[in-house]
This record gives sequence, C-alpha cells and structure tokens, in this order.
Amino acid sequence: MRKKIVAGNWKCNTTIQEGIELAKSVNDLVLSKGAKDVVVVLGTPFTHLYSVNEVIDNSRIHSAAQNCAAEAKGAFTGEVSVSMVKSTGASYVILGHSERREYYHETSESLNKKLALTLEQGLTPIYCCGEALAVREAETQNQFVKQQLDETIFNLTEDQLEKIVIAYEPIWAIGTGKTASTQQAQDMLAFIRGLIATKYSDAVAQKISILYGGSCSASNANDLFSQPDIDGGLIGGASLKSEDFLAIINAY
Ligand code: PEP
Repeated sequence: MRKKIVAGNWKCNTTIQEGIELAKSVNDLVLSKGAKDVVVVLGTPFTHLYSVNEVIDNSRIHSAAQNCAAEAKGAFTGEVSVSMVKSTGASYVILGHSERREYYHETSESLNKKLALTLEQGLTPIYCCGEALAVREAETQNQFVKQQLDETIFNLTEDQLEKIVIAYEPIWAIGTGKTASTQQAQDMLAFIRGLIATKYSDAVAQKISILYGGSCSASNANDLFSQPDIDGGLIGGASLKSEDFLAIINAY
C-alpha cells in the first residue's frame, strides 16, 4: 500500500508567531478530526521549523524544509544545510519546486547534490517536477517531465528512489486557481509511474507516492485523490488555512 500524503507548502508566508498558531491549529484539527491513514506534512520556512516541531504531534504530523543547501557545510553564507534542517526535527525536504527553479536558478546539477545530501541524512525528499504553460500548449509535457526526471532522480539507485516522494506540479496551475483536470493529473502521474517501472521495476513504481500540486483545494481534492495514481497533494495557498487544509486531508 502506497502512503497517502498531504503536504503543505507555506512558501514565504507567516511570521514565526503566526506559523506556530497555524501549526497548533492544524495539529488540533488533525488529531481530533483528521483521516488517520494520511501522512500530513507542513512545509514551513526554515526559521519556523524548530518551533513548529515543538507544537505538533510528530507521530501524526511531520515538517518539511522548502529547500536546502547543495553543500554539507562550510563557507556558504546564508545557506541552510540538511543537517541543520534535521536538527530542527524536520523529516522532509521539498526539492526542485518550480519557484526555486525559476527565480533562484535551481538546476538539475544542484538538485542532484541536494537529493544526495537529503538522503544521506535520512530525510525524505519531496521532489517536484512539472512543465510551464507553453510546454503544455505544445503538448510536449511528457518529454519535458521525463527529461527533468532523467537528469535527477533517475540517477538514484533503486534503494534511494524508494525513499523519495514525487510531486507533479504543472507550473500553469500553481497559485493560479487553474487546476489541471483530474484526467490531466492522472495521465501525468501514470506516465511518471510507467517511467519508473521501465527504468527500475514495476515493484518499485508501485511503492512510490506521487502527489499532484497546483491549486488543489477542498473542492477538487476529492476528485483528484480518487484517481488510481494520485497518492495525495502538495498544497500551497490552501495550506495556510487550517480548516481548508483539513478538508483536503479528509478528501480521500
Ligand atoms: C505549490 O506551490 O506547491 C502549490 C501547489 O501552490 P498552490 O496550491 O497555491 O497552487
């Protein structure tokens, strides 16, 4: 049985105080009303991770960094290493989000280093992939996503690949209110699973949780999560309101 995962990505939102309140509220709702078989992850700013981990029940809710340094440590002013992230109590790291690829020039080369460091430290990467609108309009999204995977996670060994979570996030659907149709999301996730089966094995492909992200909300989550290859969601805007986030967690 693959893990069902609903992961929030708070992006660059909330002060530490606001983040603690949000985490407490999610924690209370998940403990009292949340679906027990869904893994819940809060992707908070680095500054919040330690405090958020103090107020969540780690047996039900986990935390994630939204990025990490490509080096283990040293003279890299402003960077936050995976071992620092680990020392906050976080257990996931979101890697390769399209906003980081686009605004901070994240490349496959730096992502490979970050993937290796994250896995070395025993944290779970949530590896993001997905195409821009022009690629979708040219109907070349499958080739585009395949290349992203070929250059990064498909360099991992089978053992390493089994430890990661993949999030397909079409850029044109992120923060736009425009969700991929259920069929578009299912088709891409089935395509990715098929690539894993071809490159590794069907057994490996069946073990890996693949999430959909992009304007996922309480109103469309149920439809999306009912698809055979969609194992949950990476949620931006709707993860900033605990009631909305809970509704997505309970959409299975
Ligand atoms: C995201 O940034 O990962 C995301 C899916 O954002 P939103 O849900 O706001 O589209």
